[in-house]
Amino acid sequence: MSQGAGNIPVLVLKEGTGRSTGREAQRNNIMAAKIVAEAVKTTLGPCGMDKMLVSGMGDVAITNDGATIMKELDVQHPAAKMLVEVAKAQDKEVGDGTTTAVILAGELLAKAEGLLDKNIHPTVIIEGYKKASEKAQDILNAIAMPVKFDDEKMLKEVAITSISSKSINVAEDHFAKIIVDSVKQVAEKVDNKYVADIDLIKIVKKHGKSLAETELVKGMVIDKEIASSGMPKLVDGAKIALLNAKLEIEKTEFDAKINIESPDQMKMFLDEEERMLKDMVNSVTKSGANVLFCEKGIDDMALHFLGKAGVIAVKSVSSSDMEKLSKATGATIVASVKELNADVLGKAKRVEEVKIGDDKLLYIRDCKNPKAVTIVIRGASNHVIDEAERSLHDGLCVVRNVIEDGKIVAGGGAPEAELSKGLKAFAVKVGGREQLAVEAFAEAIEEIPLTLAENAGLDPIDIMVALRAQHEKADSKTFGIDVNTGKIIDMCSKMIVEPLRVKQQVIKSATEATNMILKIDDLISIKGGGKMPPMPPGGMGGMGGMGGMGGMGGMPY
Ligand code: ADP
Ligand code: MG
Repeated sequence: MSQGAGNIPVLVLKEGTGRSTGREAQRNNIMAAKIVAEAVKTTLGPCGMDKMLVSGMGDVAITNDGATIMKELDVQHPAAKMLVEVAKAQDKEVGDGTTTAVILAGELLAKAEGLLDKNIHPTVIIEGYKKASEKAQDILNAIAMPVKFDDEKMLKEVAITSISSKSINVAEDHFAKIIVDSVKQVAEKVDNKYVADIDLIKIVKKHGKSLAETELVKGMVIDKEIASSGMPKLVDGAKIALLNAKLEIEKTEFDAKINIESPDQMKMFLDEEERMLKDMVNSVTKSGANVLFCEKGIDDMALHFLGKAGVIAVKSVSSSDMEKLSKATGATIVASVKELNADVLGKAKRVEEVKIGDDKLLYIRDCKNPKAVTIVIRGASNHVIDEAERSLHDGLCVVRNVIEDGKIVAGGGAPEAELSKGLKAFAVKVGGREQLAVEAFAEAIEEIPLTLAENAGLDPIDIMVALRAQHEKADSKTFGIDVNTGKIIDMCSKMIVEPLRVKQQVIKSATEATNMILKIDDLISIKGGGKMPPMPPGGMGGMGGMGGMGGMGGMPY
């Protein structure tokens, strides 16, 4: 509401609309984002803690994964939501570095607040942050180290760095090997570059045994049973047919009435049906197939004939499994039994049904150079298995990144220290008021090594002084924090290495979100218009289920 000429109130917004503008809106947004960043800080790094997430339904998830924590937080404040988006983007693009990106965004905003207090205009800060983030990409490219596709040892180290802070670190080597083997298996060379689609790595979770018994199957594992008990449970030297059509008698489209007047006619009718089904089964067996995966249904009579012919058949296979089966076995999916012949069949050394606990799984083992593989995660409880899956996802992503880009950087805060140093030097060249923003960026990025030190119970100030001093020396680009001893060491000597792509994306996603938030100078909450933030003095009303997390409840903003 505002006062028009002659003091007549002009209603622009509906009554009850909440609104904060200018500095107040900015402060609001920055505070909300900072709270979210604060919440994930303690999970960063190898000494990071886990969060226990309790949903409204009482479901419990224990995780160290930034993306998961952010997703599960029922955040209501729009600026906080943007940080959730940062985590999601980071997770989707590169699969790792989510916590780092959120912490950096939070710190960039905190530093921006200081600049706003000094009356520096948001557009100056935004421009400065943009320049800093571009320069940061140059610095990262300059410190990156090459890795060859065949350098399995290094790829394994990248996987280990990513999973070492997660619960699957109890079987670190085992998982790292599975990760590297599976990504390399699905990687393909396109125009002299490797491309690895990790969606071709199927993950099956089965409760029981321990994480160490997690297994990579060079082929497929399908959560399905063999369609009939009359079929063999195991076939060696499998020749596999993939059929995208039903093995049933086609029902007529319209209602047809068949008058059967004598038992003979009935028999003829049934015989004819049987003959048609037998024909279909013959087409399968004549092609040489001894295993049949069908996306649709299979008639009981056809199952009987298939069983008699010693064929394993599985019906109602999902189309995504069919595609992966095709990639794994080399079979072509056909749309009719008539198209089956030796050329369209795929191969596997063994197809067998395996009983795990109460469930049955179908293993298609040892395919020749399969382009799709399966990882079967085992673990004592569903919590363990779910967290293992999330960590495995991070590991698969980082190895994919390195295989595709062929570039790594050191971990343990080393690249951040180098970035901070380079940006401080760059700030001087930028000059003017933007210089202050570039300097703020350089300081904000130090929050990563600082948090690593803090989480390891080390003195952050001592560590930062030592880290900065080390990076002033020549050949110190890869020096970071040894979280066990508190010494500044060459991270490459400990093989703490990460994909270049993760660090690049951290800078990109954090800067983008920060700048978007800084641009907002008007926060309007529309009455009844869905979930908008409670206006001050409210607090982050929406952190449902996360009651235990320090300082998020009644924080004024
Ligand atoms: P994110 O979600 O950002 O990936 P993580 O909890 O996985 O968060 O922590 C990643 C950070 O931990 C990176 O900066 C990485 O370099 C660092 N890190 C991982 N392992 C070690 C280690 N053994 N020593 C020091 N730093 C490590
Ligand atoms: Mg990580």
